[in-house]
Amino acid sequence: MSRTRQHNVTAAQWSSDGPSTPAGRPEDEYGSNVFGLEAQRSRLPKDVFKKLQATISRGEALDPSLADVVAQAMKDWALEKGATHYTHWFQPLTNLTAEKHDSFYNPVSDSATIAEFSGKELIQGEPDASSFPSGGLRATFEARGYTAWDPTSPAFVLENPNGTFLAIPTAFVSWTGEALDQKIPLLRSMEALSTAAVKALRIFGDQDTQHVFTTVGPEQEYFLIDEQYFYERPDLYLTGRTLFGAQPPKGQELDEHYFGSIPERVLAFMLELEIELRKLGIPVKTRHNEVAPAQYEIAPIFENSNVGSDHQQLTMQIIQNVARRYGLVALLHEKPFAGVNGSGKHNNWSMGTDTGSNLLKPGDAPAENLQFLFFCVAVVQAVKKHQELLRASVANVGQDHRLGANEAPPAIISIFLGRELEKAFEKIETGAIDKDAISGLLALGTPVLPPLPLDGGDRNRTSPFAFTGNRFEFRAVGSSMSLGFVNAVLNTIAAEAIDELTAKVEHAISEGLDRDAAVLEAVKETWTANKAIVFDGDGYSDAWHKEAAERGLANLPTTPDALPWYVEESTVRVFEQYNVLSERELESRFEVAVEQYISKLNIEAETAAAIARTQLLPAALRYVTLAREAGIAGLESEAVALTEEFVAAIEKLEKANAGHPSQEGLELAKFMRDTVFAAMNEAREVADRLERVVADDLWPLPKYQEILFIK
Ligand code: ADP
Ligand code: MG
Repeated sequence: MSRTRQHNVTAAQWSSDGPSTPAGRPEDEYGSNVFGLEAQRSRLPKDVFKKLQATISRGEALDPSLADVVAQAMKDWALEKGATHYTHWFQPLTNLTAEKHDSFYNPVSDSATIAEFSGKELIQGEPDASSFPSGGLRATFEARGYTAWDPTSPAFVLENPNGTFLAIPTAFVSWTGEALDQKIPLLRSMEALSTAAVKALRIFGDQDTQHVFTTVGPEQEYFLIDEQYFYERPDLYLTGRTLFGAQPPKGQELDEHYFGSIPERVLAFMLELEIELRKLGIPVKTRHNEVAPAQYEIAPIFENSNVGSDHQQLTMQIIQNVARRYGLVALLHEKPFAGVNGSGKHNNWSMGTDTGSNLLKPGDAPAENLQFLFFCVAVVQAVKKHQELLRASVANVGQDHRLGANEAPPAIISIFLGRELEKAFEKIETGAIDKDAISGLLALGTPVLPPLPLDGGDRNRTSPFAFTGNRFEFRAVGSSMSLGFVNAVLNTIAAEAIDELTAKVEHAISEGLDRDAAVLEAVKETWTANKAIVFDGDGYSDAWHKEAAERGLANLPTTPDALPWYVEESTVRVFEQYNVLSERELESRFEVAVEQYISKLNIEAETAAAIARTQLLPAALRYVTLAREAGIAGLESEAVALTEEFVAAIEKLEKANAGHPSQEGLELAKFMRDTVFAAMNEAREVADRLERVVADDLWPLPKYQEILFIK
């Protein structure tokens, strides 16, 4: 039976009942499931509220004695929202979130219970954490870990059709105090960057700013497919991507999907998704079709990095939950379909002061522009110096299908600044401009045009790290990734560069230069030393690969090439200097990343071998019989030859799967890449040719054309 005819999810099935969450007015719903500013203000005693706000807005330490009061208010609020349980919600090194629910209710007699929640329970939890990845940080004799309340990310209530529970964002540490999660290094790096940036701002005469926050606005890409196809493909439900599948006759060549009108079922899903996200205070801003068929994107308004990163984890989870209500499955894998664009997550990153200004936004006044150029060139230096670490921070097994292919940023890290900005730096370098002329530098040079943002129309989609007017957009992040480590890296290396520039300026001033001249000199020096990382051409071209090599830029095409940079000396030095991660913590992360790469490839390879032998080969054999019975010699010999080739490829894959060498760690990862992954690709190549020959009704897997085009 043809799969197309089997397809039976119709619009009626999901639209008849209306959304499971009825829509209210957006402004009433926004944040209604968050114990945020309003809930805190109305429920906490004034002094407690004030102290909590000081922690949230200025990063001041929270007095633990307030915890009981906050816990009480939080519990009452959650009970009114129907919660029966609470959980410390945390982010182990899996790119996913973790939760263990505890009931608020304790029995007080045979027939009565009361709801209780103490400050101690709010502040600290002790999940039995021995099965989370720790990269050797936790020996079994000290297997306990604990979770610690993060008051700077608001608690929220998550809904289920049969009840709700309170989720409290927490950090996750080992009993000996080592970070086991994504949140801790991120928080530490935000602190490091704030200190460095505030110090630099004093040079520019800013005495008001007390705190600088890094901000993140992620653009999440994902695929939506009908759940029937998902269930019918073990590769999809076991590995998140298709391990087989011939190219369909139609791909994305008609350019009809990108920004096209959103299919009705998909839009229904998106609207409900946005209702859910709104209730959680996640400020979704845009939605649209992406380039590939069945691919979509959702982007929120940026927030401070910690909250934005928590919200991104929630968004990924809720996308998947809501999709199921519409008979859809959301795929967050970086490359679910070979030959079709994969999914990434653009990480828009900037720095903002607690007085409300964006440090990466060019200003109108000369001094503002000098300050902008200072912070901008600091980022250029940071990215140049730590390009390999940035590449490592986005390495995972799914990304190896994407980075470096002609659809995603290359595996070579470079920066796009835009012609105007680049010209400004060049003028400074050649001394063609003095400090008084700085203000004119960034304008369009004619009073009749409105002052456009610098990137206006001048976008380079092939650049992995692009300045986009008031922020940098790191485009190489994978769609399934947590934002934690990536942003911890960005913040830490930026803090280092800002401090170095500050020191230079201070030194020049102490030598007698005036402030502006000192800054200009430091900007010039830094630009000259680091401009090799700046590139405004086509990042996909072969010419760039050659030129990048000539410029001495790193090209780390696969995950095993990139991961060692977690523990390179330059990484350890900067992470230890800014107390973001110790060498031991970095080593543990390196081990976890290597381990995940090996395990995921191993699951893929075993799944591929099983599908090949038990699903695809039998189909090929049946087709051989069919061809033989038809008595048409050419057909039979073609089928037999192809099937023989397939058998050989399966045997090779099975041998690779059984033959892992005794090495572990990076050596095993390289074996997996060079032997197992290669054997998997060979088997796939033959299988995809078979798929084009074998009778459609015998082929056991749904085909790309069905999965991608039936909506
Ligand atoms: P595009 O696809 O053109 O890059 P989008 O509107 O899809 O633009 O996404 C832009 C993203 O950049 C949004 O998530 C937005 O919140 C984010 N952004 C804007 N300003 C900042 C900033 N100062 N810091 C971090 N992210 C920002
Ligand atoms: Mg975008």
